[in-house]
Amino acid sequence: MLVLDWDETVTEVDTLHLVLEEFGDREIYQRAEAELGKTMTLNDVIAEEFLTVKAPLAEVVRWLLENARIRPGFAELARSHHPLIVSSGFHETIEPLLEHEGVLEDVELRANRVDARPDGWVVHFRASEECGLCQEPCKRADLPVNEHVVYAGDGYSDFCAALAADKVFATGSLAAHLDERGVQYRPLTDFRFRAFGPDLANLWNDGALRRVVGRREVRITSAPSGVRVEPLDAETRPVVRKLLGMEFDLDPFYEWARRDRVLAKLTRELAGLRPPLSPDPFETLVSAITAQQVSLHAAFAIRTRFVERFGRRGEQAYAFPTEQRLRRAKEEELVALGFSRRKAEYVLGVAAARLDYDGLAKLPDDEVKARLTAVRGLGEWTADWYLARHLARPRAWPAGDLGLRKAVALFYPDAGDVRAFGERLEPFQNLTAHYLLAGLQWPKR
Ligand SMILES: [Mg+2]
Ligand SMILES: [Zn+2]
Repeated sequence: MLVLDWDETVTEVDTLHLVLEEFGDREIYQRAEAELGKTMTLNDVIAEEFLTVKAPLAEVVRWLLENARIRPGFAELARSHHPLIVSSGFHETIEPLLEHEGVLEDVELRANRVDARPDGWVVHFRASEECGLCQEPCKRADLPVNEHVVYAGDGYSDFCAALAADKVFATGSLAAHLDERGVQYRPLTDFRFRAFGPDLANLWNDGALRRVVGRREVRITSAPSGVRVEPLDAETRPVVRKLLGMEFDLDPFYEWARRDRVLAKLTRELAGLRPPLSPDPFETLVSAITAQQVSLHAAFAIRTRFVERFGRRGEQAYAFPTEQRLRRAKEEELVALGFSRRKAEYVLGVAAARLDYDGLAKLPDDEVKARLTAVRGLGEWTADWYLARHLARPRAWPAGDLGLRKAVALFYPDAGDVRAFGERLEPFQNLTAHYLLAGLQWPKR
């Protein structure tokens, strides 16, 4: 069972804080927060803070619908996993946001209720019994018993419940709390498994994946018998095939995977997963440079600013900046977006190199690697991912990738040297890499 906290776990910013800052008394709010866990329980703090909110509920909900941001991938996750959401927030403010995401029916919500009185909001807490462990009315009581629990959370209200879960995704003060106690967890970034995450060039919005192809924006949505693509024609089809990983032939891989205990299990659990490919060669290389040696979060933030600054906007998504455009850009302009000076130089260097991408696509793996690594800033890691995620070469095996090394160590403790291990996976190194990475990241029920 997947259990999610709401504020700052599903939402990007805490909506209780947002409401207090916009409609309540900030001073009381700050004083109360300082006492949290000392002289006041979380419920005491929430009760006191919301007495300072006097706006009508409808007004606050309207404002939240405009200002609250939901983490990428949540709607898809809600539809596929039907999570339980446990929150110290209110049914009255959470449900409109769930409805807006189109997933109100897909989740179970356990939250508090609020009576939005004109002289100050009164909170009715769902549980008032103290937890035996943390001495507060806490979320541990909401967890299903005798079930494997995957818990995702970020804050104080999750401390006790997270310790009771089988697997935890954490960020914020929950992550710090677990660090202090030496408890294992996985970092929570967003809710989706996708190679090139939340970005403006491959934009998830309103349940559709949007990408600019030529002069038009293509929308890909899920349909009962697969996917719906609009518009679909000779120009958009090859791009969509890449985005959906259609170039991979799964059946022979699954057949082959049956003889390996780990892969037999992973291919069953992740049946149908097609690693999404990166459709554009220049975009693939620039994205790899952006991702080198920084957290995924930082990489996406920089990438977003880069796409906004140099890309061309379609309806909602942006076309990724072109080589031609980058040849007119200055190092300073990239540095201003958050690129290190060296990475700015690399990106401009790749644009200036005028690589023959069509020619590259026809070369054997080794030669592609040799041509790419001859360009300053493009190393073996980038070349391997280019083969894996752009060219969909079956034998691509990004042995230098930290995530893949972790996955191999976890699933095959006796693997030894990761590059040499790849030879045992002949000829399905690429699909194996993606399935191992997916197995590492995806919460299982
Ligand atoms: Mg939270
Ligand atoms: Zn507790």
